[in-house]
Amino acid sequence: MTVKIDSEKCGWKDGKCTCGCCAESKCCTDVCPVDAIKRDKTAVVDADTCIDCGACIETCPKDAISF
Ligand code: SF4
Ligand code: SF4
Repeated sequence: MTVKIDSEKCGWKDGKCTCGCCAESKCCTDVCPVDAIKRDKTAVVDADTCIDCGACIETCPKDAISF
């Protein structure tokens, strides 16, 4: 089981934060202990790196991440 990011709900759009999660310093990329989330055009999880800890789900202000 690996977490998924719903790109419709996620505030990271077209390479920019639109929801303020980054400014609050508790974005998914900041809390992931294994650096499994990358933000390019959209935020994506590397399933091979993710350890299913759930920290990103807890922190996301847009409720965009789920198992
Ligand atoms: S914390 Fe949520 S809204 Fe912000 S980039 Fe991550 S998935 Fe998207
Ligand atoms: S579940 Fe944990 S390890 Fe996986 S992407 Fe989220 S914060 Fe990173």
